[in-house]
Amino acid sequence: MPTLAKAYIAVSATAPLQPGTVERREPGEFELQIAIKFAGICHSDIHTSRGDWSGVNYPLVVGHEIAGVVEAVGAKVTRHSVGDRVGVGCFVDSCRECVNCRAGEEQHCLSGPTSTYNAVGRDGLPTAGGYSTSIVVDENYVLRIPDGIPLETAAPLLCAGITMYSPLRTWAAGPGKRVAVIGMGGLGHMGVKIAAAMGAEVTVLSQSLKKQEDAIRLGAKHYYATADPSTFEILRGHFDLIVNTVSADIDIDEYLSLLALDGTLVLVGLPSMPLTQRAWSLVSFRRSLAGSKMGGIRQTQEMLNFCAAHGLGAEVEVIPASKINDAYERVLASDVRYRFVIDAHTF
Ligand code: NAP
Ligand code: ZN
Ligand code: ZN
Repeated sequence: MPTLAKAYIAVSATAPLQPGTVERREPGEFELQIAIKFAGICHSDIHTSRGDWSGVNYPLVVGHEIAGVVEAVGAKVTRHSVGDRVGVGCFVDSCRECVNCRAGEEQHCLSGPTSTYNAVGRDGLPTAGGYSTSIVVDENYVLRIPDGIPLETAAPLLCAGITMYSPLRTWAAGPGKRVAVIGMGGLGHMGVKIAAAMGAEVTVLSQSLKKQEDAIRLGAKHYYATADPSTFEILRGHFDLIVNTVSADIDIDEYLSLLALDGTLVLVGLPSMPLTQRAWSLVSFRRSLAGSKMGGIRQTQEMLNFCAAHGLGAEVEVIPASKINDAYERVLASDVRYRFVIDAHTF
């Protein structure tokens, strides 16, 4: 029998999110029903519910940083058991057959992974995300949350954590590497923690000096305010890797100029407007401009295990569901320290 889960729902691009319910199917043979305990608020939830990106279908339940406990399993489930601490990230299915799925890069599935929200599942029904009290997901798309990480600090790892871990691994952040993170919000603060734990020398490039003390506490060696033009003089040609988490339109040429020979600027932030940049910024110093999207299931598990081994979780402010709309405004004002996480008991 399908069940009704409590949820917070976006009904249009302009209305505040409001309480309601969402139907969850009975778990199929290979599916788990998860009692959601905490759901992180990712900036992508705001972009989507406010219609910044095209193709939004309302009503919509967002949320793709889900931490909870398995409460029921289908007859053929082998990977998880009732009572397990588990997580769900940005996608809940993919074709499983294409070259990228077979390589464990399901986020780049050639048929498009099935997003945790605002997509259509195999059952033909719209997917609905983590701002709710339960969710039903195929066991292959569910992660184990190691015991050492509290569920509320684990939830943001399912998107913010993996979105930073993946490029840091791809471009080999580690000892001897100078890594910069642009923007210290939800993604950025996890980037600082993970890159520092990997052994890289980490610099934060933030709009102001407000977050300097926190950045150093989280593992950064250096911190510069990008509002100060001298920052771009001082750091010219300095970094091996820069990861840009900003969703606003920033001057990419200025940041490319901070890369050393063969350095790479990786975009993870998703502005809604096209970017522009000059060829010279890349031609000089043989620089690269790249992008990175979440991470595959295997790498997400690797990231969770890495975080547990290094004692890492997100810095969170746990809020009741009634504060979601206020939290959205604070994220938009860069006033988040450093991830809002909703207590699912309050839906
Ligand atoms: P967030 O918590 O709002 O952090 C973004 C940070 O960017 C802010 O805290 C702020 O840091 C900085 N910033 C904001 N406005 C700025 C401006 N006008 N100029 C310069 N810097 C500015 O957001 P998030 O959840 O980390 O997400 C960041 C972006 O990544 C979003 O676009 C989101 O959709 C995208 N995203 C992408 C992926 C992917 O797979 N590629 C996955 C998840 C999210 P300071 O105060 O330190 O300057
Ligand atoms: Zn996200
Ligand atoms: Zn595929």
